[in-house]
Amino acid sequence: MSAPASNLTINADRLWSTIIETARFGGTDKGGVRRLTLSEEDRQVRDWFRAACEAAGCTVTVDGLGNMFALRPGKDMTKPPLGIGSHLDTQPTGGKFDGVLGVMAALEVVRTLNDAGIETDAPLCICNWTNEEGSRFAPAMMGSAGYVADLPVADILARTDAEGVSVGTALDAIGYRGPEEVGAQKLSGFLELHIEQGPILEAEGLPIGVVEHGQGIIWYDGRITGFESHTGSTPMHLRKDALATLSEIVLAIEALAKAHGPNAVGSVGEAVIARPSRNVIPGEIAFSGEFRTPDAGILDALDKALQDKVKEIAARRKVDVRLDTIWRKEPTHFDPVMTGAIAAAADRLGLPHRPIVSGAGHDSFHLATLVPTAMIFVPCKDGVSHNELESAKPDDCAAGTNVLLHAVLAVAGGGA
Ligand SMILES: [Zn+2]
Repeated sequence: MSAPASNLTINADRLWSTIIETARFGGTDKGGVRRLTLSEEDRQVRDWFRAACEAAGCTVTVDGLGNMFALRPGKDMTKPPLGIGSHLDTQPTGGKFDGVLGVMAALEVVRTLNDAGIETDAPLCICNWTNEEGSRFAPAMMGSAGYVADLPVADILARTDAEGVSVGTALDAIGYRGPEEVGAQKLSGFLELHIEQGPILEAEGLPIGVVEHGQGIIWYDGRITGFESHTGSTPMHLRKDALATLSEIVLAIEALAKAHGPNAVGSVGEAVIARPSRNVIPGEIAFSGEFRTPDAGILDALDKALQDKVKEIAARRKVDVRLDTIWRKEPTHFDPVMTGAIAAAADRLGLPHRPIVSGAGHDSFHLATLVPTAMIFVPCKDGVSHNELESAKPDDCAAGTNVLLHAVLAVAGGGA
């Protein structure tokens, strides 16, 4: 089979038509998709996915968190399957590609292998992970978190949405609380194709990103307590201005991230002035902050530098600042054999590529804690995602799927 496998390419029109066809489940007037996890629209796309996988000769199982696994047999059924896929849920005003591309590409890989009569050595398993987006139920990447035992299944099932509906109840409502024990479907590795959700590939005119790292993250909750007083009668040197203090902290976070670049980023996303009034000096502010970098040492350095800087600012301004670390996620380092297979596949296909860091979280981050894992990025228009305007070119989707195909052949065996 080595000769045909080496020249094999996916059916780009078929891939594109599955993306467009499934975008009708939750499709919005603006061309986006609203398919919240475990909603009626999610049930519809899950039913479509199950039928399409079964038509492609796969056996579909569902675990207790609604994660779906479509197994395509291989020559050696003693080997655990190679997982390929992503997620089919979207943000409330999401697009047609985030997650969907990875699942449809995995289906297209299986269909292409079927057409060519190629059986891989290891079986393949198309995965659709439940609630990657984290919009209806927190946290994000919930299904894969349960799969790798990062969170207890009972905890996940008890999480509720804004209406008080639990994950367990929502799974039952759409008939997707499966009988399979969570984690029982073993995988030998995992490959995920995804849109970049950032501007780098498009700006550099490259069709393929080989994702080598995922950002580590620190989240802070902060509170500044100064003193509310009259804006007109309080001399400048006697003020304890919480907002001016926050301004220094915001700029410190920005400066620290820039100083530790190019892959470090830092932001303040929320700030709430208590009892705001135009003629009262703000006395109390709650704010959030974060740093992201793929280097754990840099994450440590940023954290220490910020804490020191905040102490210095607070002492100088005679205000009280609390800065609590509420979450820390270590950076993800994808498997070199898997990233090597992706780069080699791109080379074989004559597709220019570069190593890239994932700024957003993905199910692959969880999978990487358990099995050799890597991701392929393709460009999306203006780097925009989590938006109905999210867009990717058919050629880029096809290129990424061809890279996935050849990486799968190399890793699962059965290629040239
Ligand atoms: Zn996604």
